[in-house]
Amino acid sequence: MQAVVYDRALEPEVREVPEPEAGPGEVKIKVTQAGFCGTDLHLHHGGFGARFPLIPGHEGVGVVTALGDGVTGFEVGQQVVVNPNAYCGLCAYCRAGDLVRCENLLAVGVNRDGMFAEYVSVPAGQVFVADGLEPDTAVLTEPASCAMHGLERLRPRPGTSALVFGAGPTGTLLAQLMASGGVAHVTVADPAQAKLDTVRALGIDQTIAIGRVTEDSAQQVTDQLRAASPTGDGYDIVVEATGSSVVGDLGLPLLRNGGTLLVYGVAREEARLALAPYEIFRRELTVLGSFAEMTSFAAAINALRSGRVRTDGLITHRFALADYAQAIEAAQHDASAHKIVIVP
Ligand SMILES: [Zn+2]
Ligand SMILES: [Zn+2]
Repeated sequence: MQAVVYDRALEPEVREVPEPEAGPGEVKIKVTQAGFCGTDLHLHHGGFGARFPLIPGHEGVGVVTALGDGVTGFEVGQQVVVNPNAYCGLCAYCRAGDLVRCENLLAVGVNRDGMFAEYVSVPAGQVFVADGLEPDTAVLTEPASCAMHGLERLRPRPGTSALVFGAGPTGTLLAQLMASGGVAHVTVADPAQAKLDTVRALGIDQTIAIGRVTEDSAQQVTDQLRAASPTGDGYDIVVEATGSSVVGDLGLPLLRNGGTLLVYGVAREEARLALAPYEIFRRELTVLGSFAEMTSFAAAINALRSGRVRTDGLITHRFALADYAQAIEAAQHDASAHKIVIVP
């Protein structure tokens, strides 16, 4: 079969590799399409725990083609989505039931072969039936699951206000989940007007075009966003969904007293936030992290099925496997790229 293969960072090759068999306990899937995301860019550069050689692709939808020994509950021909993340079951966190914090996470498309390929075989426990969902919606199940985990971390108080920095797919999905999860007013801020138009069409209360956030523009952007908040004094929740520490530094100043900053974007490992301990103490602020997900797939599928989370307009670019290099180029340099999808 054809697959995108990295033998080392920065050098993806599209080449013929052996088709994976459905081993015991595994489901073999013909990949319909797989989403490209920021994590794939980090992997491209050798970050995010990449293990080479690697076939990337962790956001896939496909059709069951074979069941390994002992697998029940699936049928050949069924549309399914894959939860890329698996826990070890043996570490102290797993034994305490804290699965998302497993110390030995295995992730399809990160440290085991993924779905930028014609076929993939994965343990049945990571496969979820997605019959009846449009493939363009189902392909966003993994990002929607990460957003669901973000909502689970936040547990927003009903009636509160939220600001999301970053109109990318995961920020857009989390914005919708917060709105349906009790937040009374959700604002999304981003420099890209086209992305904001999509966000607005998905029913988000307010979108604000901001300039690129730099050290010089930080104060002006902060003032602009605070003035636009429903109470005029900031937000109960600020979500940093860009991975930029310059943006993250606007979080605390934009929080109302008692508010929560959710660090949700993937930053570079060496990045640092400037946090004022006196502010955190005096105003009783909370800084929360939300990393991936482990057990949120079923909830995300439910939200996608009901339309509580919508995906209309999010996919802007499609590339064949052979054009993987163009997908990377678009992700890095095309401001109009919202969700990029690879179609084997
Ligand atoms: Zn992703
Ligand atoms: Zn574990």
